[in-house]
Amino acid sequence: MSDQTPMMKQYRQIHAQTPDCLLFFRLGDFYEMFDEDARIASKELDLALTTRDRAEGKSDEERTPMCGVPFHSAESYIARLVSRGYKVAICEQMEDPALAKGLVKRDVIRVVTPGTVVESSMLEEGVNNYYAGVYAALGGVGLAFIDISTGEAYATICTGAGAAEQTENELARFHPRELVYGGEALEQSFYDAVYARLGCALNPAQKGLFDPAVCADTCLRQFGEQPLPPAVTLALGGLVQTLQSLQRSDLSHVRRLEYYLSGRFMELDLNARRNLELTQTLRGKEKRGSLLWVLDKTKTAMGSRMLRAWLDKPLLGPAEIRKRLSAVDALKAATIPRQELLEALREVTDLERVMARIVTGAANARDLLSLSQGSRSLPRIKKLLAGFDAAFLRTIRDQLDELSDLREKIDRAITEEPPFSLREGGLIRKGYSEEVDRLRDVLSGGKGTLAAIEAQEKEKTGIRNLRVGYNRVFGYYIEVAKGQVDLVPDSYIRKQTLVNGERYITQELKELEQTILTAKDRVNALEYELFTELRTFLAGNAARVQQSARAVAAADVLSCFAELAVRNNYCRPEVDLSGEIEITDGRHPVVEQVLKGTLFVPNDTRLNGSTHRVCIITGPNMAGKSTYMRQVALIVLMAQIGCFVPAKSAHIGVVDRVFTRIGASDDLTAGQSTFMVEMSEVAEILRHATPRSLLVLDEIGRGTSTFDGMAIARAVLEYAADVKRLGAKTLFATHYHELTDIERELEGVKNYNIAVKKRRDDVIFLRKIVPGAADDSYGVEVAKLAGLPERVIRRARELLEVLESGAGGGSPQAQAVPDAQISLMDLGSSAIRAKLEAITVETLTPIEAMNVLYELKQML
Ligand code: ATP
Repeated sequence: MSDQTPMMKQYRQIHAQTPDCLLFFRLGDFYEMFDEDARIASKELDLALTTRDRAEGKSDEERTPMCGVPFHSAESYIARLVSRGYKVAICEQMEDPALAKGLVKRDVIRVVTPGTVVESSMLEEGVNNYYAGVYAALGGVGLAFIDISTGEAYATICTGAGAAEQTENELARFHPRELVYGGEALEQSFYDAVYARLGCALNPAQKGLFDPAVCADTCLRQFGEQPLPPAVTLALGGLVQTLQSLQRSDLSHVRRLEYYLSGRFMELDLNARRNLELTQTLRGKEKRGSLLWVLDKTKTAMGSRMLRAWLDKPLLGPAEIRKRLSAVDALKAATIPRQELLEALREVTDLERVMARIVTGAANARDLLSLSQGSRSLPRIKKLLAGFDAAFLRTIRDQLDELSDLREKIDRAITEEPPFSLREGGLIRKGYSEEVDRLRDVLSGGKGTLAAIEAQEKEKTGIRNLRVGYNRVFGYYIEVAKGQVDLVPDSYIRKQTLVNGERYITQELKELEQTILTAKDRVNALEYELFTELRTFLAGNAARVQQSARAVAAADVLSCFAELAVRNNYCRPEVDLSGEIEITDGRHPVVEQVLKGTLFVPNDTRLNGSTHRVCIITGPNMAGKSTYMRQVALIVLMAQIGCFVPAKSAHIGVVDRVFTRIGASDDLTAGQSTFMVEMSEVAEILRHATPRSLLVLDEIGRGTSTFDGMAIARAVLEYAADVKRLGAKTLFATHYHELTDIERELEGVKNYNIAVKKRRDDVIFLRKIVPGAADDSYGVEVAKLAGLPERVIRRARELLEVLESGAGGGSPQAQAVPDAQISLMDLGSSAIRAKLEAITVETLTPIEAMNVLYELKQML
């Protein structure tokens, strides 16, 4: 620390308050970084690393490393750092450097972290950006989620034996970018696992963050009187304090808290979310190919986020679900008004996020214009909503505020194309402020006066090439060429001698200059002041804008569902608490969209608590078992978010949870093998499922030896089917055909298979699910389709024949498999043998050897 100038002292003092951040230190038009921060930033941002105090003849070690970014393009640099996991503290000049006496006052105005960004360039449009607070008390885990980029806030509590698992599921539901946590009931390893699975940044709470009295007071101030359990008050209070200290603001746009209890939404664990590919595909982690990709035809960013939120929180109450379905029905029935509504929705901009920027002071004049222009179609939307007969749409219409007064104020104040910068004028429209107009007159009048002075002086002195000019050093001056200097009157005061002439000032010029320069500064300052006044006024109306934004979002999602129902031929499901699932001609919503050249074959489903509790599905590989089972789960899920479903008709008794066990996945980083992962997932399912759950189990017991696997599969099936134990609705796909015997032995178990037709050595997939067990796996045929070498296929058929004939007796493993290695003699003819025997290897030249090899290959 060589450099201890007063400014560097100030820098280091401020940095000490935010030690875990990179400090962006405002110096004029730049944000500068020093010391270790400069080294990191120069590497991460590809910036040149320079040093301060170079001129002072210090050695390299003594110099202070430094790098900087221009303040007007800082956002993209901050975004890059934050996306790489850094926290960036923004330190601004708190007074005008021109007016400051001594060192300019500086302070951190905000800390930018992944969970606290509000800039649109750092946010994904249709995705919420939550910061979570967790307080794990022994009596229950309090959870809170706040998205400061939209103002949404949720809280809940997880209690009982499954509290940890439930906490993980709630975290998976909101997928926060960051987490602040404390409390003694959960170990650090729990949070490490959450980090591994969700990738959210972990912030263990600083000492004192969860002080009960402070937390209670914080919650009261932020959300008003709310009866919350102590653990929730701590989680929420701790979270709000964290956000306040990072934002350095009171978060006045986060005022509405939704506190929910388990039982309101379907619980889905991370496996189910991933396996059912709700928001992204399993393999590519892309939206394309997921359920959301099919469903999200919303017109606004707010609608897109709400749809995702609905998908993350399927409902459990039939009445609430029916409310949505009836609204979709009404919208579906009226084609032309629906199209008009979609058109009007398309024009609405992201009001929630603009509002968040306004409230946090990050909004510029263009943001205000986007609030005005992007809300222009609200009156039309409100009017159109009045034309539909559905209770939910009426509520939405009532909540929708046209915001005309705000628009009027913005349009009156802000110019049509304001600059990004707020300090350089050009923001305020003519006619909004008398003083701004007057100063602008002085400015333009001033320029006119300059021309007039030039003309007047030319005339008065007779100097034809006299010119009025301006430079930073002397301000306004009169320039006279050398040859005419004699004509200059005495009232001119000489200021500068040039090669070709002289420069002068006059009293009149000096006075004018003063007026113009101060007018420029004053109008810029005044415009800024008027702008912030307007911004503060709008911030005070945040709740109205947010309410309208939510109404627009709901209208958007519902009309999107209606449009999907028409375009994709979905039907309205009948939803109740019957516990039955009956689907006629159901389809997989995603597969049917991506199939090219073939039509999706629809299939029926019947599941209930009595005769059809467990369906064992057999059938060849590739027949469509997984597709079918997922399709059932997705139809149930779609129904429970209030969407119409891909089927001819559907009766859905709501399920409390969907569990999936699908495919092989290693968790090698967590020290678990494929089979261990499979078994621990099955264990979780059996521990948490209830008779109201839907289980999708795809090939349980595959990751171990045949007999072990089959035994486990059978035991799991029996457990799931038995009403005294679990008795949950279960779809169970397997290649162990032996399991189909259970149908005869256990009540409520039914066999189904997916039909295929065999033609000679090939299989034709019919994709139709039919009662009864499959007769064959056709594994070898499917392997052939997949392009396994012909020789391997031939050998596999031979082996299969031996196995199926039961030669050797006992289990498949116990059977003597004739020489498992494929011998050369099996493949070739005796001619090959003869050829090989005829060769004298010792006398063969390399070229001859090559030729022989070639000939042998030809004989195969
Ligand atoms: P495996 O036993 O090998 O896992 P599977 O029986 O589970 O196979 P799926 O993966 O469900 O088979 O289906 C294979 C492919 O068949 C799908 O990718 C899809 O393209 C197609 N398919 C499945 N069901 C249908 C259907 N009902 N209509 C048309 N195509 C279908």
